Amino acid sequence: MAKRDYYEVLGVAKNAEQAEIKKAYHKLALKYHPDRNPGDAAAEESFKEAAEAFSVLKDGQKRAQYDQYGHAGAGFEGAGFSNMEDIFSAFSEIFGGSSVFGDFFGGSTRTRVRGRRGASLRCAIELDFSDPVEPTEKTISLRRAETCDDCGGSGAKTGTAPTQCPQCNGAGVVMTSAGFFSMRSTCPRCHGRGEVIADPCPACSGSGRKLKEREITIKIPAGIEDGMTLRIGAEGEAGEQGGPPGDLLCDVHIRPHPLFKRAGADVYLEVPIGFAQAALGAKVEVPTLRGRKDLKVAAGTQAGTVQRMKGEGFPKLDGYGRGDQLVEVIVEVPHKLTKDQERILREYAETEEQHITPDRKSFLDKVKKLFSK
Ligand SMILES: [Zn+2]
Ligand SMILES: [Zn+2]
Repeated sequence: MAKRDYYEVLGVAKNAEQAEIKKAYHKLALKYHPDRNPGDAAAEESFKEAAEAFSVLKDGQKRAQYDQYGHAGAGFEGAGFSNMEDIFSAFSEIFGGSSVFGDFFGGSTRTRVRGRRGASLRCAIELDFSDPVEPTEKTISLRRAETCDDCGGSGAKTGTAPTQCPQCNGAGVVMTSAGFFSMRSTCPRCHGRGEVIADPCPACSGSGRKLKEREITIKIPAGIEDGMTLRIGAEGEAGEQGGPPGDLLCDVHIRPHPLFKRAGADVYLEVPIGFAQAALGAKVEVPTLRGRKDLKVAAGTQAGTVQRMKGEGFPKLDGYGRGDQLVEVIVEVPHKLTKDQERILREYAETEEQHITPDRKSFLDKVKKLFSK
């Protein structure tokens, strides 16, 4: 599904300041808030879309990555919120009842504490230098806390269920009076959950979660670079008491190559050629990411000349086009000459005194000037 540009979603300029971005999001969140648009699926989509855009643009690092690579950058594809609960939990500082923003919604904001979000997990993926030429997949194994099968995550023994907390009657908060003031605080008995477990599930000791070994296949976009991190939504640890799962973060390491070096989507390669090839011009075969290709070296090519082979680099992360291969020509001086080669070169050297090359001439002129002062 094509995604709208995050700046467009929030209706701010590319160089908008943080305060402006936050303000724009507040406005949209108010407009599309589910409490104001009950049962309106389109409003819910807009609410989620705005939350996703805000989650990226409010974070300096994510915003920079997004600016550079678009939605494909570092796993923003699918980084959206799958449900409304996630949004309230991610931006609790905005939706929380105590903030000015929260007050806009009056009593409609929930008072009960939801289950805690699962922890995010981190993993490392190692790729060969040329793997990012195509989109690829890697399977990793990890141990993570998952929802307990026996109790379905409730933490209560099979056949029983958590019961309403008798102290707060399920509200999660209790009121205490102190003189004129009446104060609300989190229920000390159920810690805000509104429920208590009388008979804990023996399989998970009432936590609702169990450790499991899992194999997870991770989709890796073409053009990924060493040091980038992929975020795979909801593949982290299960949440507690119905809380949303955490994410899985995969750090990408790319093994170096004996010949190629990489800068962004461009590939850099040094190719040695002979002195005669450089002087007379030649067609040389060079390795590329996609096999051997011919490179034309023009007559009179100087050492250090960099030639660009268009489109022979890595695919760009934003999906538009490819980088180039930059070939630096290294002119090699023969270590040893045969008798014949030496004779020819000596003859050549004699002719050189009459035909001084332009570079050498200007160098000699400069030397002359230096000593004539
Ligand atoms: Zn259990
Ligand atoms: Zn309670």
